[in-house]
Amino acid sequence: SPVLLWLRRDLRLSDHPALSAACGEGCPVIPVFILDDLADSLKAAPKWRLGLGLQAYDAALKARGSRLILRRGQALDCLRDLVSETGATAVYWSRLYDPESVARDVGVKSALKEQGIRARSFGGHLMFEPWTVQTRTGGFYKVFTPMWKAVTSIDVDPPMPEPGSIPAPENWPASENLGDWELQMGMNRGAEVVRPHVRLGEAAALDRLGDFTEDGIAEYREKRDFPAEDGTSGLSENLSLGEISPHRCWHAGLRARQDGKAGAETFLKELVWREFAYHLMHHTPRILTENWKPDWDAFPWCTDPEDPKVLAWKQGRTGIEFVDAAMRELYVTGRMHNRGRMIVASYLTKHLMCHWKIGLDWFADTLIDWDPASNAMGWQWSAGSGPDATPYFRVFNPVTQLDRFDRGCGYVRRWIAEGQSDPSETALSYFDAIPRHWGLSASDAYPEPVVTPEDGRAAALNAYENRDFQR
Ligand code: FAD
Repeated sequence: SPVLLWLRRDLRLSDHPALSAACGEGCPVIPVFILDDLADSLKAAPKWRLGLGLQAYDAALKARGSRLILRRGQALDCLRDLVSETGATAVYWSRLYDPESVARDVGVKSALKEQGIRARSFGGHLMFEPWTVQTRTGGFYKVFTPMWKAVTSIDVDPPMPEPGSIPAPENWPASENLGDWELQMGMNRGAEVVRPHVRLGEAAALDRLGDFTEDGIAEYREKRDFPAEDGTSGLSENLSLGEISPHRCWHAGLRARQDGKAGAETFLKELVWREFAYHLMHHTPRILTENWKPDWDAFPWCTDPEDPKVLAWKQGRTGIEFVDAAMRELYVTGRMHNRGRMIVASYLTKHLMCHWKIGLDWFADTLIDWDPASNAMGWQWSAGSGPDATPYFRVFNPVTQLDRFDRGCGYVRRWIAEGQSDPSETALSYFDAIPRHWGLSASDAYPEPVVTPEDGRAAALNAYENRDFQR
């Protein structure tokens, strides 16, 4: 009798413990994706990117004589329907860690077990299950460096090969059509603008990892902070949908380190930042929705997402070049360099004194590598309200940052057309991407700063030091 393989954020064939276990049963495997309320609640760009990922995954399965069955509805109902239609006696899946997925999966598992179905969840999305890593006193890590030190002594499983074959059932159950789900609907910026920036699917991700660990990684430590450079792996969108496993990235990093490639250690650390974000989300799920440090509840944030300051920030029209370049990169490519993410987050939460949730939501709407844990950790870190956060009084100055990290202005020129006699295609592509009702044109004058770095810093520090805000 078949095994249902319930896919969620694990759209790969190799190093996939749930798939390998299902194939190891020696019976047919039916890969299924369910558009339930949780998947449907994804915002525009990640939802669109999921649609692309599902299409690529189905194609990869078809090349191996299998296919992806699509259903829409409550996960448990869909799985029960499939069980009765196919006679399946087992449902396997890879674990997720956000509280809503956990609640759903716990419910699905116990309901299926009551029905006599073997429901099994597997690892694969993380290298270190969050409950297995503990401080010496038995708590969880709230600071990165001790966690990094702790996990470096743990052996990470080497990546598993792709199963030799994925046994197909004699008859496939019915599937919905991906096109009918209209996962692109929320993308009011042209999806065709973002599409060339997508690295889609497992094969492309594996190629990129190979190229990066062969060449780029050696200079990763030096180049990773400079947004004009192609200095990072760019694998976050693939890790986010599970098109590549962190284990595979880790082992590639380890090999590069053994080969004496200087940046490898830094790359390994970044992979552990991702684990740290999940560790924090598992132990304190409120990191997704509330100030991690509750004393920040009293901070006088602006919470109006329609505030003109916020609009200028979203549109890349703050008049602060580094901020605007990064916000436009986000809008056109669905990605933003990490240095940019830190700067725009600092500018929104400190200089503009707007709540980090406004930024978190905008990133969730526009990033193709959106990840619940890394996004929440990044925002709370930048705002000062999170664990291991940058202290509030350390306000990034976006002008001096530009001087340090974009000295030749390559990044700013790449993204800001206004004021340039011969702007690059990339800078102009922003104006193709934005909705017409924003009423912006490349021939507009570049705006004056909404808030200057000096005024913003002074106002933020003043609010921070105000006696009403008790830290
Ligand atoms: P590389 O430099 O090549 O790093 C390799 C991998 O390590 C990344 O793919 C990523 O999985 C992980 N990693 C690197 N830096 C971090 C970090 N600071 N935190 C967690 N993991 C990290 N990352 C996301 O994947 N999704 C998000 O939604 C997201 N939102 C962010 C929001 C803010 C405000 C900030 C400051 C950071 C956010 N990050 C997020 C983290 C980081 O910016 C991206 O992971 C990184 O820019 C991705 O580029 P890359 O794949 O080239 O990374």
